[in-house]
Amino acid sequence: MNVLVTGGAGYIGSHTVRMLEKAGHRAIVYDDLSKGHRAAVKNSVFVQGSLFDSRLLAETIRRHAIDAVIHFAAFSCVGESMEKPQEYYHNNVEGSLNLFEAMVAEGVGTLVFSSTAAVYGEPETTPITEDMAKNPTNVYGRTKLAVETALAEQYSRVYGLKYITLRYFNACGADAAGDIGEDHDPETHLVPLILQACLGKRSGIKIFGTDYSTPDGTCIRDYIHVNDLAAAHLLALDALAGGHRSDVYNLGNGQGFSVQEVIDAAEAVSGRSVRRELAGPRAGDPAVLIAGAAKIRRELGWKPEYTDMKDIIGTAWRWHLAHPDGYGDKREDLGCRN
Ligand code: UDP
Repeated sequence: MNVLVTGGAGYIGSHTVRMLEKAGHRAIVYDDLSKGHRAAVKNSVFVQGSLFDSRLLAETIRRHAIDAVIHFAAFSCVGESMEKPQEYYHNNVEGSLNLFEAMVAEGVGTLVFSSTAAVYGEPETTPITEDMAKNPTNVYGRTKLAVETALAEQYSRVYGLKYITLRYFNACGADAAGDIGEDHDPETHLVPLILQACLGKRSGIKIFGTDYSTPDGTCIRDYIHVNDLAAAHLLALDALAGGHRSDVYNLGNGQGFSVQEVIDAAEAVSGRSVRRELAGPRAGDPAVLIAGAAKIRRELGWKPEYTDMKDIIGTAWRWHLAHPDGYGDKREDLGCRN
């Protein structure tokens, strides 16, 4: 298939692009590089463009005879979304709708959409299943939920677009080749922050909240390897090509690790110790987020390759050791990168 990958120069996007190419698909990366990295796109066709450039979108779809779209391009920092809601609604919601309009106009009827566990907010129970209430506690989650709703109520129902939405839990790790990985600026995510501390690039790690009702008092999250996430996109594409109905799936390991446990694992993998600073909780952080991922296992046959926290962190450590400054293309004032 010829697959247009928006945000294909970002963290999850670049890993998915590599997997698409390995599976014999042709990936056409469409990215404005406001957050992504040109160096993360190795051999695929690369088009630098905005989701708001309807002409370039249409031209790219036509020129490359696009069969399906995987839509990653979005702003994805929870904290930033609370400070800049207008930018998040504009980029994530309006940008997505613009892309969908171009797909409809050009007759591309297949989409895999990146969503997030943040659509659930504080869960009623754990593990979280797809049918649970959606009460996002931050703007980022609300923008993703708005797009999910538009897909279901408009693009699927009215225009017949077939889509699979994947709600990611906590992505981490890097491709085993060690040449692509996670690089946000500024970095806000737990695993890369700890590994930067292991490298001596940070003085330590702040633990956000130590009084949660969890065994060690720190937040529990479901960490999933980026290549396991990527693999789910290929399964989703295959399913849609085989006539699968439009649907929504959680993507996580179904296993929770506390912040302290993640730091322990990183110390064991790197052989270095990290100074832990106990800090207050971060606004909007629920105590426990663990995916109920039975549905995607059952219906799409997805199975994570990485279930051991140390294995996952080991792949990230390899990337960070070889690329202590990430892709080395840091720019000023760009905020958080995907
Ligand atoms: N966290 C932390 N210190 C940090 C960054 C994150 O204690 O410097 C915690 C955060 O509160 C959450 C978990 O680590 O419980 C994962 O956070 P991250 O930002 O990596 O992912 P999110 O869950 O926000 O998508």
